[in-house]
Amino acid sequence: MLKKTDPDIIKSYLEDSSNLQGGHAEGVYVPENEKEIIEAVKESSSKKQPLTVSGAGTGTTGGRIPFGGWVLSTEKLNRIVNIDKTNKTALIEPGVTLEELDAAVSKVGLLYAPDPTEKSAFLGGTVSTNASGARSLRFGSTRDHINKLRVVLSSGEVFGISRGQKPHFPIPSYHFPAIKNSAGYYSKPGMDLIDLFIGSEGTLGVVSEIEVRLMDKLGETFDCIAFLDSEEAAVLFTEELREKKDVLTLEYFDQNSLEMLRKTYPHIPSGNKTAIYFEQIIRDDKYLDFWEEFFNKHKVSMDSAWLGMNDKQKKELHDFRHAIPETINELYKHEHQQKVSLDIAVPDKNFRSMLNFYNLQLTTNNLQLFHIKFGHIGQSHLHVNMLPKSDEQRKLAQDLAMKFVKKAVSLGGTVSAEHGIGKIKHTYLKEMFGQAAIDEMIGIKKRFDPRMILNLGNIFDIVHT
Ligand SMILES: Cc1cc2nc3c(=O)[nH]c(=O)nc-3n(C[C@H](O)[C@H](O)[C@H](O)COP(=O)(O)OP(=O)(O)OC[C@H]3O[C@@H](n4cnc5c(N)ncnc54)[C@H](O)[C@@H]3O)c2cc1C
Repeated sequence: MLKKTDPDIIKSYLEDSSNLQGGHAEGVYVPENEKEIIEAVKESSSKKQPLTVSGAGTGTTGGRIPFGGWVLSTEKLNRIVNIDKTNKTALIEPGVTLEELDAAVSKVGLLYAPDPTEKSAFLGGTVSTNASGARSLRFGSTRDHINKLRVVLSSGEVFGISRGQKPHFPIPSYHFPAIKNSAGYYSKPGMDLIDLFIGSEGTLGVVSEIEVRLMDKLGETFDCIAFLDSEEAAVLFTEELREKKDVLTLEYFDQNSLEMLRKTYPHIPSGNKTAIYFEQIIRDDKYLDFWEEFFNKHKVSMDSAWLGMNDKQKKELHDFRHAIPETINELYKHEHQQKVSLDIAVPDKNFRSMLNFYNLQLTTNNLQLFHIKFGHIGQSHLHVNMLPKSDEQRKLAQDLAMKFVKKAVSLGGTVSAEHGIGKIKHTYLKEMFGQAAIDEMIGIKKRFDPRMILNLGNIFDIVHT
């Protein structure tokens, strides 16, 4: 098996899009098959050496960044083993990217529905964080599309888990919110064992093979970015469309997001303050009449809207949406700042309370901290990103983040709807579940990883001894 110990090569595994600093490792295993994963895990286990699994490094919480020990990179585990058109499944290795899977299944008329916007992410990474995407509004998160996993445990034993298989130990007693959630180990009465592993951030085992559920490719869609006059207009727009089943996507851009993007997209209509990106399945030829009436009702100009009628236009709209996290990540890097970014979702009935709280807190300080709010408004899940430029602003951003976390928890929300906890959101997790639940989670980790070597520091603090 390929082992890399050159410091320059190791360096590239010490970062992801969290900008978390200080990672270090002695070397990197690059297995090319499951047998070599087992070899790497057994070697680490026998030496009691921490092992951190690395996907594509697009994660936002430092999950793949090692603090000691070795890295196991899944980059060469990139085969699509099989696509079964009859049963609509695909068997893949964990280093296949979303983009590669999308292209392969599309050729045979199928679709892998979860669509996290960063298409260079590996499937193993998305399983590990239970990633979601814009279409999760209709199709759910990664968890809803996984049939089977093969996982290498820290003993070197390979564990095959199929959907429907139940845990052989008591289900955790803590309450896991019934909204999209990637914070902490999954728990639900009657749950499947596979759901514990999905979203466990590599702390229970190394995912070596994945069977995903596919669906028929969507028929024709109509995509659009509608520019609106205010945040209230965007909320009203969303509230009316949320239950409309042929609308697959409802994504929000606040005023600061639009201003930030204006440098690259100078044709963003001036005078508008917010925007909603939506995608709708076309069921009949009356769809444009519906939108004309809907736009009139909401006082939205059809002339200023950006329409996605063909593949090229749709890609342009998609790229525009993707440009928000990309641009803010570049700004963080430029300012040498670790992200102060939130991934909070709340039950729909509490969305307005959460939004009002964000606005009140973000606008009643006089430090002029730059912030944006964007994302999955259809699922009451906005990303609030704050970009401090001084120590004073940094302290403010951290205090605000904690206030937002407490508010979300009081509203029955989650502190991480899709990115996971990684190494930077432990205090948020404690706020959400309390120490007793976290102790229960650590008990589960010890059950599957008694040697305590896998992905240490993810989800909770476990110091390697
Ligand atoms: C511009 C941008 C947009 C994004 N948009 C979205 C979005 O819409 N939705 C969303 O959910 N996320 C989004 N993300 C975050 C990121 O793409 C996801 O978290 C993704 O799931 C990470 O995959 P990765 O392969 O890059 O994993 P990494 O960053 O390499 O790792 C993530 C975690 O997975 C673990 N891991 C990776 N592979 C395995 C394996 N085989 N077995 C066990 N553990 C493993 C790692 O140890 C780590 O803890 C975005 C990121 C960026 C930069």
